[in-house]
Formats: sequence, C-alpha cells, structure tokens
Amino acid sequence: MALVSLLVKALLSLVLLLPFSSAAWEGEAQLPPDEYNTKGGPVKDKLNVHLVAHTHDDVGWLKTVDQYYVGSNNSIQFAGVQWILDSVVQSLAQNPDRKFIYVEQAFFQRWWRQQNKKTRKVVQKLVKDGQLEFINGGWCMHDEATTYYVDMIDQTALGHRYIRDQFDQYPRIGWQIDPFGHSAVQASLLTAELGFDGLFFARADYDDVKKRREEKSMEMVWRASKSLGKSAETFAGVMGHHYDTPVGFNFDMWSKDPPIQDDPRLYDVNVAERIEAFIKDNLAQAAQFRTNNIMLSMGADFVYSNANTWFTNMDKLIHYANKDGRVNVFYSTPSIYLDAKYEANETWPLKTDDFFPYADCPHCYWTGYFASRVGLKGYTRALSGYLQAARQLEFLVGRSATGPNTDELEEAMAIVQHHDGVSGTEKQHVADDYAKRLAIGAAEAGAVVANALVTLTAGQKAGAKEGLSSSADGFMHARVLLNEKAAPQADHDSEGHAFEQCPLLNISSCPITEKLIEEDTSLVVVAYNSLAWPRTELVRFPVASQLLAVTDMYGNPVPSQVAPIHHVTRTLRARHVAADQEAPFELTFLAGVPPLGFATYFLGTKQAGQPGLAAVAVEEPVNGFGTDFDIGRGALKLTFGGDSGSLKRIANKRTQTSLGVVHQSMFWYNASDGNTEANPLQASGAYIFRPNSSTEYPLWDTAADTFPRLSTVRGPLYEEVRQELSPWAVQTFRVSTDGADADVQYTVGPIPIDDGLGKEVVMRLETDIQNGKTFFTDSNGRDLIQRVVDKRPTWKLNVTEPVAGNYYPVNAAILIRDAATQLTVLTDRSLGGASLADGQVDVMLHRRLLHDDARGVGEPLNETAYGEGLVTRGVLKVGVHPTNESARWLRENALRVYSPLQLAFTTQKSGGAPAWLRSHRGSFSGLREGAQLPPNVALTTLQQLPDGTVLLRLAHLYEVDEDPELSQLARVNLRALFPTKIEKATELTLSGNQPKSAVKKKVWRVEGEESTRHASLRGGPFKDDDLTVELGPLEIRTFGILFAEKVM
Ligand SMILES: [Zn+2]
Repeated sequence: MALVSLLVKALLSLVLLLPFSSAAWEGEAQLPPDEYNTKGGPVKDKLNVHLVAHTHDDVGWLKTVDQYYVGSNNSIQFAGVQWILDSVVQSLAQNPDRKFIYVEQAFFQRWWRQQNKKTRKVVQKLVKDGQLEFINGGWCMHDEATTYYVDMIDQTALGHRYIRDQFDQYPRIGWQIDPFGHSAVQASLLTAELGFDGLFFARADYDDVKKRREEKSMEMVWRASKSLGKSAETFAGVMGHHYDTPVGFNFDMWSKDPPIQDDPRLYDVNVAERIEAFIKDNLAQAAQFRTNNIMLSMGADFVYSNANTWFTNMDKLIHYANKDGRVNVFYSTPSIYLDAKYEANETWPLKTDDFFPYADCPHCYWTGYFASRVGLKGYTRALSGYLQAARQLEFLVGRSATGPNTDELEEAMAIVQHHDGVSGTEKQHVADDYAKRLAIGAAEAGAVVANALVTLTAGQKAGAKEGLSSSADGFMHARVLLNEKAAPQADHDSEGHAFEQCPLLNISSCPITEKLIEEDTSLVVVAYNSLAWPRTELVRFPVASQLLAVTDMYGNPVPSQVAPIHHVTRTLRARHVAADQEAPFELTFLAGVPPLGFATYFLGTKQAGQPGLAAVAVEEPVNGFGTDFDIGRGALKLTFGGDSGSLKRIANKRTQTSLGVVHQSMFWYNASDGNTEANPLQASGAYIFRPNSSTEYPLWDTAADTFPRLSTVRGPLYEEVRQELSPWAVQTFRVSTDGADADVQYTVGPIPIDDGLGKEVVMRLETDIQNGKTFFTDSNGRDLIQRVVDKRPTWKLNVTEPVAGNYYPVNAAILIRDAATQLTVLTDRSLGGASLADGQVDVMLHRRLLHDDARGVGEPLNETAYGEGLVTRGVLKVGVHPTNESARWLRENALRVYSPLQLAFTTQKSGGAPAWLRSHRGSFSGLREGAQLPPNVALTTLQQLPDGTVLLRLAHLYEVDEDPELSQLARVNLRALFPTKIEKATELTLSGNQPKSAVKKKVWRVEGEESTRHASLRGGPFKDDDLTVELGPLEIRTFGILFAEKVM
C-alpha cells in the first residue's frame, strides 16, 4: 500500500468528478471511516430497505447433497456449504449488526455435528441475538408440485425438531424461493398451520408477476384452502428480484459485479455511482410494493463461501446509502420485514387459488417436471407409505436404542423432497444418490418391520395369551402390549422364523413366495394394515404352482385365485432377478386385516380335486374383430369393443352409473428440440414441457386395420384385460369382484428414441362427460383445486402453449364431472395431468427427452436401466360414480393407494399352519379392542420420537361440502383409541415443535373485507382432561403424547 500516499491527490480530484449529489457529501473526499455505521432498523418516515443476506443451497441438484456440503466435484459447480457456514459465522461474529438467514437443515446439521464446543457456543449466541435466523427450517426447501402432504410435513418436522432442541428456536417464516410454482397446501398447511407468520417465494408466472407489479399486489393474503378458510390464511409475498440481489449488487467472490470502492487512495472509486444505482433500484422496487418497506434478497445459489466479500460491501452500502438519506437501509431478516409490514396496518389483496403452472416466458411452461423421473417419484411415494407403517410398528414394540430404527429412512425421505429431488430436475448421478439413500433407509426400516413382526407374532395361540382377547370382529386386540418394556429386538423368533418382505412385488418378484411349497409346510403370510380402520383387500404375490390353498388363522379356507403372470411382467422380472426365480403364476386372495394391526394367512400345497384349492384362471387371447366383451363380476363392469379391443364403457351396477368411453389409449407428444420459430432455444426438458405441436401420436391406432395383442384372465376374485398397445406400452385393466373400481396398470418403456425424437407419453380417457372445460386436481393430496382450460383465475391468460400451459400437478387425483357423473383417476405417485377437451382426462406417464431445456440441469432427461431406456410401471385407479357420491370413493381410495397392506412372509416347515398358531399370535390390533377411527379421519402420523414422546397426527379427509355426512365435524377420543393409558397429551403445531397455544396468529386486513372474523368449520379446543379431538373439514391436528408407561 506504499504507493497510495503518492496518489492521494490525483484520486481525490477524481472522486470529485463523480456524479454524487448528496448534500452531506458534496465536496468531501473522505477516507473510509474507521468503522462503517451499520446500525439501524425500520423507521416511520422513510423507505425502509431490508437487506436479507441469504444463500440458496440445493439439497442435491447438479451435485449430490454430500458433494455440495463437502465442496467436492467442483468441476461441475463451485459450491461447498461447509465453507459457507464457516465463513458466515465468522463474519457475523465480527459485527453484531450483521444478520443472516439459513434455510436447509440437511446442510446445517451436517455442519453442526462437526463443530467443536467453542464454535457451537458462538453460533448459539448468534442465534439467540437474532443475527442468525433459521427460516423455513425444514430439512430441505421441498418441492411443491410433486410432493405429498405427509412428506412435506415430515421433512419440515425433522428440521424443526433439531432447531428446537439445539437452539430453543421456532422458525416463523416460510421461504420457498426456488420451487417451480407454489401449491395451495404450502400456504395453508406448510405456512399457516405450522404457526408461521408468512411465506415468501419467487417464481410465479411471468404475466401474473407483471400484473402484480403494476397493481402492487406482489404481496397478498393467501387463503388457499376453501375448507380451512380464514383460519389457515397467511401473508405471502413474491420477491422483488427473484431471489437474487438487485442487478449489479451480487457481492460474491465469484461475481463479476464491482465491489464498492470508497478508498480515494486507490483507483476506480465508485461509491457514489454505486449508491446512486442502488437507491434508484430501491425506489423502483418500492413503486411495486405496499408500505414503506421493501426486502432485498442479498444472495443467490451457494454464495457466501467467502462471506466477507458480501458483508464488507453491505456494510458500505448501509453506511453510504443512509448517509445519502433518501432511504433507510439496514441488515434485516424476513421476520423483521414481515413485522414491519404488519405494523403498517395496510390492506392486502386476496389470493385463493395456487401458483401453478409456472411459466417464465410464453413458450416455457414448467409443467414437464410433474412427470420427470417417474421411477423416482414412484419409489418416493411407495416409501412414504412404508415409512408410516414402519413407524407405527416401531411405536408398537418400542423404539430400539441400539437396533435398527426408522431414522435413516426419515432422513432420506426428507432429502428427496427437495425441489430438485422428487421433482426429477437433478442430474442423473444425483438421482442415483437419492435412490441409494432411500434404498439404504428402506432396508433399515425393513428390519424394523420384520423385527417388530417377530415380536408381535410371538406368543401363544390366538386368544390364549394374557392380555389378548378375541373380540366381536374376530381379531385379537392388544391390551397390555404397549405397557410392556421393549424387548430386545430380534430378527427371528425362538424357532428360527424370520420375516421377509418383497419390495419388488410390482414386477411379481418375491423369492420366498416363488419357491415350491413342500408337503406339511406352510407359507405364512402376515398382512399389516397401517390404516386405523379394519380393511379387506386383495393381496397378490407370485407362486410356483397352481395347486395351492389359502387358509385363515382359524383354519377356514379363504377363496383364492391363481393366474399366469403376464409375459411382459416376466420379462421385466427377468432383468432384475436370478435365473431360477421364474414363478409362472400369481396368487390372489382377499385378506381382512384389523386396524393398525395384522392378520395371518397360510398358503399350503393341495392335491388336485381337494377342497379349498385356489381357482385357476387362465389367460385367453382375444383375437379381435368379434363381438364386444366385458370383465367384472361385481359392481363394476368394463366393456371392450370387439371391433377395436378398446375400452368402450364403464358401468357401476351398484350406483346405476354408466360412462360411455369414446376412446381410451396412450399416445405421445413429440418433445420440442428447440428448433422452432417461436423461441427457438426452448426445448422440452427436465423442467419444461414443450411439445413440438399439439399433435398426438397414437401408440395404437384404432382407426387403422389392426387389433392390439390382447388377452383376458377371468376368475372369481378378479378379471383382467391385458392390452399391448405397442412393444413398449402395455396396459392391464383389472376389476375385482369385491370392489367398485378398476385398476389400470401401465407399463411404459423403453421409449424408443432411434428416430431421433424425444417422446412424452400420455394416457387418455375420453368419455361422454360434459365437464365444461373444467377439471380438478389435488393439491399435495389434500384440497381439490378447480382448473379451467386456457384460463387463470386472476389474470387473462395469453394462450401460447395450448397443451403444456394446461397441465397441472397430479399428486393423487384428477377428476372431471358433470351434474350426474364423475370420473376420478387416482395415481400412485405424482404425475402431470390435464383435461384439454370436454370428457377427457390425460395423465402423463413417462418422458424420454434428447435435449436440455436450459434451466441449469445441463442434461437431457434420458433415463436408462439395463442398457436401455427406463421402463416405468404404475397403477391408475379409475372410479365412476354419481357426482354427489364420488368424494367418499376418492378420499377412501386415495388413502388405500397411499397405505397399501404391507406383506411379510415366513415359512413354517413341519406342521404347517396349526404348528405356527400353537406358538404365535395370529392377529393383532394396536388399537383398543373394537376401536377404530371414524370414516372421515385418517391416522397420518404415529411416531415415537427419540425422546420417547409419541407424535400423533389425525387428519380429516374431506373438504367442506364435499360429502353430506363425511364433511361434518369428526370426533375422536384418544383415550378410547389406545389400549395404554395416556399420561399427557398436548396439542402441537403441525410440525410438532411447540404447543399450539404458543402461537399467536397475526390477523391481516384483506382488501374489500370488513370483518376479520373467521367462520370456518374447525374443531373446538382440545381439552387435555377428556382427550377428545374434534376435526373440521381437511383439518389436521398434531399431538405430543406421553403414555403412562413409556414404551422404551
Ligand atoms: Zn434450488
């Protein structure tokens, strides 16, 4: 720095030439102050500029979560979260005025574990003093289009628990700045019901935002749930500069923006022009927002690895802008900003729908990711239901301090909810990392399930063990089990039996059931029901022989059916498994299982002609061009055209509902390669759906003179039509005799690309329903949101993408209806859906693309496995009902799809079923004898936390006015539900981190509404003396329970 003094004079004169007009400065060419004045907070009479220092750290995207944390694999992206947190903490400690927010607990907890006592103390003080504030506070910033509400709650609860335990803190603000569109449930459940004061986000449709800027409606009151109404509304704001800094003010060490240079001893002093530009930007933003407070997000992706570059520049910004005096700039956080907004007592515009779909330009609809990586989406959803079942079993036997537990799966599930996780917008190696984490977690949870079943089945013959009794419904109920000290976990019983589970049953792979069953041997089948209602349902698994019989725990024969496994399924299975695993048949029987419990069934070999033998269903080819044919012996019948092999009619005998099907098939859109006149650079990719045209390319053209390869399977329990539309697209329609719905199992892939065309495959049901351009899709499995083709509720849509612009996320359900009839389609994972013309329901099933869509991921979505394109298989459940009866079917079956019976198997070698029952419990329910939840209430969470508290969530399943009976207030007495005495039950916020009573809800004034009172139908206050819970429509209530004798 020796040269400086020589240059001072010249530099001083340079400074004076700069266009800096503030009176306080005129003529002064001061040296930088010894200390910048960075104190401050909101004031009444000035524009308050809240600087919110933040870093957006993706929990996996271009790199895996661990690579991002460690800072490895930097050839892909320079990003290392550990260095960010190290550096931020140092910078905060240097100046008590500085503030920073941190969001993703997946990263923070990795870092916290590695810190020593001294650093932890420093951080605890920073948090206590409000310098470091946890925002959102979940494990990740979850996606909102492809996540299920249970998973959103779970991942948030996990992060909140750590923050409470380590810092005694309770996040106040939602911060969803990067998800590609925003859901209603995010606003109602994941903001208001968490006890948050508000929600900030970026990414809303470009036209919507333009209008909002003009109308100063960037910030609003978001009343997203019709059922929860005002009681779950929230303040919500779209960010002014995406989630970036004002242009030119990114101070990261890698940024090209100029730092603020205020030292006249050096060349290129720019402080005056920088302050001028900054204030100009402030004033422009203020013109789009209400009140005299604006928030500037001072950050971007993975910034602050050298926090000093940011804070030093912001110190200067604050010092000099305040010296200028036109604005009042200070370090802030979203909660300080929100409090200032609240104090202003302004009125706010009302928003009642959601922010889907998101487009960032006329040909850029982010509706592709609704169906990107459908395999990962399916795996995630299946494991979500499995995690809930595993947690219940863990609770029932007592959480093991040393053995396997469900924590690993809980964390893997939390990570994959990230907005580049289950959304499918990550690089392939990152998707593989998510799947690996899930598989490792699932294996450990699998051990929890298997060990718990060893414990729960251990005991005397049904009814003989003390504390168990046979009740009217024929099931054994636990009375004392919850009081017993948790036995040391064992993976096998005293006779050496261990339970096996078969996660690949969807491709008919199950090693234990595929073996031939010998004489005097039984295959023991334990079916666990995670629903809090008794349930009867078909179960299905592969078997080696047709000569089989099923009996229940009382020795009664159970009707069963054996059918040949479809050759398509066998081909799929053959890719996965050992060559000797090739069972040719599938056995199906109807299992009845008590609530939160299990029932045992036995499978044994029989000679031909013996009673009780499974009915043999054969596969018969339909050679086409004959008369119409149908399947379904029960309430539901599907008719197929003899001229085409295509579905023609769905009739529900019970309700006298009949639906004409004009056409049902699959087709594909040709994905744009970006080589178009309008927006030539926009290809269809992981995020964006952009078909080259609205042309649908049929997989099987009924008009042409061909007939698909088609066969039927008929038996007493169910009937099937197997339809091969093409070598890579197959659908199986299955109608069971006991049910009133059809399952359509689809198998799609490998999608051929040798023609050089990317393809997006859609299943369409075209019916005679007159739905008037209106359809409904669910929001994260809860509220049903009305969609109108080519319309948006709050602005005039310029229709530029007639197909992609009408797609919406389908997490669980899509439906169309007219006055008489409703067609409902339930999915087993998140997909995309639309109804482009009256009578139609479209569901996008799979995508294989050859181009990147230029939103950062840098890879085409071209998934492969076994050296060829990925094959996906899933099930759509189709229901046709009178419109006014449909809600009941939808709500109950969506829950069944989410929570399938979990099967576990073992072999009883000598003596078969009687021998097993001599030493084992045949059935069990974790609820009090005869207890079950009302039909409109679901048990969403039953989880024993590490501290012994049991977390319980009950969810009302119905929307307001959805069903005349079931939309009513529901009542549950917790004492009557559980067999063990409840010592204490406290109602908690949705994430379970604090008593609900601790949250004081802010009441915001809404434009055009006089009253601030709310009249939504919610349950009354929980009284911990009588333990009765009331639930209004779609209400979820969370409790922390201490049982009289701890399970552990
Ligand atoms: Zn992100």
